[in-house]
Formats: sequence, C-alpha cells, structure tokens
Amino acid sequence: MAKKLRRKVQILTSIITNANLMGFSSGKIYTGNLKKICVPGLNCYSCPGALGSCPIGSLQAVVGGVKHQFSFYIVGFLMLIGSIMGRFVCGWLCPFGLIQDLIHKIPVPKLKLNKSFDKLKYLKYLILVVFVLLLPMFFVDIIGMGKPTFCQFICPVGTLEGGIPLVLLNKSLRNAIGFLYTWKVTLLIITIILSMIIFRPFCRFICPLGAIYSLFNPVSLYRLKVDRNKCTNCGVCSRKCKMQVEVNKTPNSLECIRCGECITNCPQKAIKSVKPNFLKTKCTEKGI
Ligand code: SF4
Ligand code: SF4
Repeated sequence: MAKKLRRKVQILTSIITNANLMGFSSGKIYTGNLKKICVPGLNCYSCPGALGSCPIGSLQAVVGGVKHQFSFYIVGFLMLIGSIMGRFVCGWLCPFGLIQDLIHKIPVPKLKLNKSFDKLKYLKYLILVVFVLLLPMFFVDIIGMGKPTFCQFICPVGTLEGGIPLVLLNKSLRNAIGFLYTWKVTLLIITIILSMIIFRPFCRFICPLGAIYSLFNPVSLYRLKVDRNKCTNCGVCSRKCKMQVEVNKTPNSLECIRCGECITNCPQKAIKSVKPNFLKTKCTEKGI
C-alpha cells in the first residue's frame, strides 16, 4: 500500500513540477511568476516543462551574483522543508528520485555496496560545499559574476531535463554543441548505467540537495522511531532497506529517504513514523 502511494505521489509531483507542456513543443523555458518559487526536489530550471525553480540552481545564482548575497528566502525555504520532512523529499517528492527508481527496475544484476564504499556518501557534502557554495562565490568573471558550477559541470538532471530537450528543440543550440555538452551527456549516461545496478547512486553520493536535507533527518518533524520493546533485532528492516541503513540502530540515519519499506516489512510492527499533525490521519490510514 505504502509503495503504491509513494509511486503515485512521485508521479503526481513530477507532473505538477513540469506542467508547462507548451514548453516541450516550443522549446522555450517558462519564465513567469511561478519561477520565483522554489520546488522542494531537484528539477532543472531549464527544463521546458519546469514551472518553479530548482533550490540548488537558485542557491548558486545568489551566492554567485555580483553582490554574493545571502538569500534568506532560499536558505529559509530549505530549512523549512528540511525541518518538516528531511529526506522525505528524496523518497517521495523529487522527480529525479522517481527517474532513478524507474531505471533501477530494469532487470539487470544488482549490486549491493559493501562497507568499503561507505565513505563515498560524504562526497555529496564535498560537492555541496565546493561546487554549490565556494566555486560560485570565488570563481568569478571580470564583472564579479560567479558560475553555477554544479549545474554547469556536474548535474545530470540539468542535462536530462534541460540540456537534451532544448538541444533537440532548438537548431541554434544544436549548432553550438561543444565539449561541455559531451561531458555532461557522458555523466548522464554513467548515472543511468549506475542507477540500473545500484539503488539511487546520485542521491547517495552526489546530490547536494539530498546532502542538505539529510542534515535535518534526525530532527525533522517527520522521523522514524523503533519501539525497543517490540524489536527483536531480527534485521529484516536493514535487509529490506535499499539505502543500506541499519534501521533498528539508526532509524534517523542521514541516508534514509523515508521510503517506508522498513515500516511495511518489520514483522513486529516495531517501526513507526513520528509525523506532523497535518500528515497524521492520511498516513496512518495508508500505513506509512
Ligand atoms: S525488522 Fe523490526 S523487529 Fe526486526 S530488527 Fe527491524 S525493527 Fe527490529
Ligand atoms: S530506513 Fe526505512 S524508510 Fe529509510 S530508506 Fe531504509 S527502508 Fe526506506
């Protein structure tokens, strides 16, 4: 039940986030008033369908602006969403999360990473600090404008949702293809191949938005709780967790994307979610 509901919410959020259907035929980006609002997940500003702005793109735009401002709006938005739901956004609301989930369904042999890969999870924090904050702030042109280095050099979401559709729809852009485009398409292909064999590699190792929301997991209003009186330490929850969280030990791990698989599969029904009042009735009915 929770699995089906999650998929429906992911699809609905992805459609609403990219509801500017005219953009897909005209090849033009929507630039109206809604673009002033950030969406909770990673969704490229340059996607022809995008109605809102990507929080990571917006963050780079303000720190890389001529005045290198601190944006209370974007930081406040990230803190608000993070403190309500943490990485629930990754599991339920992010369009690129859905894309990775669907790619992982392709029937090829799957790889469960052993402990030696554990340190790779810190890469997303390094990317956040270096490519989203420091380089846009200090890697500036002659008028003092910083580059959105994460979008420009790394983000496969931008290539998939923005770069490729815009190049296909605009002849002038096709003629301007260069090394950077080839580099970004290569990164996208690598991400797709890895997503087939590893569950959510981009979320686990690369995504700076996931890195920000992860810091809120232990304190957000939506949290998981293990009832120690019911838990028999059977380990079913950890074996079912595709993010490889040791659920009975660290239910609010920074890596948990709140998919709910552990809650559904615990034979003792020992895992519960603590949630804000406005989510309580609906979620309890669906067993999330
Ligand atoms: S599946 Fe349930 S009972 Fe088993 S270890 Fe996890 S929380 Fe405890
Ligand atoms: S700990 Fe539970 S909710 Fe979190 S990712 Fe793992 S299975 Fe999903």
